[in-house]
Amino acid sequence: MPAPAAPGLYLHVPFCSAVCPYCDFAVRTGGRERRARFVARLLAEIELWAGAPPPLSAFDTVYFGGGTPSCLLPEELARILDAARARLGVVPGARVFLEANPEDVTPESLAAWRALGVATLSLGVQSFAAEDLAFLGRRHDAGEARRSVELALAAGFETVSIDLIYGLPDGLPAGSPAGWRRTLDAAVRLAPQHLSCYQLTVHDGTPFGARRDRGALRELPGEAQAGLFVLTHAFLADAGYPAYEVSNFARAHEHRSRHNRKYWEHAPYLGLGPSAHSFDGRRRWWNERTLDAWERRVAAGERPEAGGETLEREELALEALLLGLRRAEGVDLAALRERYAVDLLAANAGLLERLAADGLLARRGERLVPSPAGLAVADGLAAAFVLAPA
Ligand code: SF4
Repeated sequence: MPAPAAPGLYLHVPFCSAVCPYCDFAVRTGGRERRARFVARLLAEIELWAGAPPPLSAFDTVYFGGGTPSCLLPEELARILDAARARLGVVPGARVFLEANPEDVTPESLAAWRALGVATLSLGVQSFAAEDLAFLGRRHDAGEARRSVELALAAGFETVSIDLIYGLPDGLPAGSPAGWRRTLDAAVRLAPQHLSCYQLTVHDGTPFGARRDRGALRELPGEAQAGLFVLTHAFLADAGYPAYEVSNFARAHEHRSRHNRKYWEHAPYLGLGPSAHSFDGRRRWWNERTLDAWERRVAAGERPEAGGETLEREELALEALLLGLRRAEGVDLAALRERYAVDLLAANAGLLERLAADGLLARRGERLVPSPAGLAVADGLAAAFVLAPA
């Protein structure tokens, strides 16, 4: 089996200034003292992993996600990063990612994040249309979003990324081709290096889920969603941002997310903080989801694992196939053979011919590459394959 890629480190910051009605992440509000206590506990969790053997050492990416990591003070982020570098074997030159909300972006905060070594800043813009932002319960307006991107670009990060959401209910700008195109246009005019565009998902247990259940929120029908997906990919490709994954678009190869790639390629990763997931190549586990439960375990000197599973070869192979079909680089046939003993070609010759004839998939050497139409139906495609042992 080939050596796995270098591992990534994920740090979950569970605070937001308010919780958006569509959000199903492990997040909550919390004042300065609550955040300071969280930071102390996160430092303690880092200590619980100090000196861990490979594959969960020598991290070459560090990702502050959430939640809203930008709501921590720069000195709090610095202490976490220093501890991770000193105790977890983060390699020199590791790429640091930070998610930020537009309302936390100021020239001072940007300078502080740059000084910490943040290379990629992801801004949770979501939309440039006032009605979309109001519907999504966001705390910034379009002008603030624009200013935050401009300031971030001027601050000199290697990659500035804008997160957007589309597929909102009918009647809202991001629920119609014309309205969504206006937001995409506003985004590319700002010339960030990277864009992430997600379709709205209404999750059970969220305020949106409750509204849907009582008939007060109607999700955009699947056909309209699919139309917006195709529009997104065509618009951004024309604007110089080809998709490299179903939801991710980069102006150049070096701006593709090196951290997310670890999830897509089954590289090991260690996740710290409430709800964070980890993977060592075979086993996946996850931390206590709520801040209180996570804190109690860490305070007791325990790793705060809430559950886990060991993945069988077939399960890993199916995941690798699905993740490959969601990326423009496609499925690495040699890796499937060598890591999971699956010969995809032998067992699916007829299916591959049909998918190629339908313009969904093409074979390029040792790769199966989805077309834009194939990317749109990647999950369905994966289910059609037989995963026979090599
Ligand atoms: S800002 Fe992001 S993480 Fe926070 S509540 Fe809203 S969607 Fe969730």
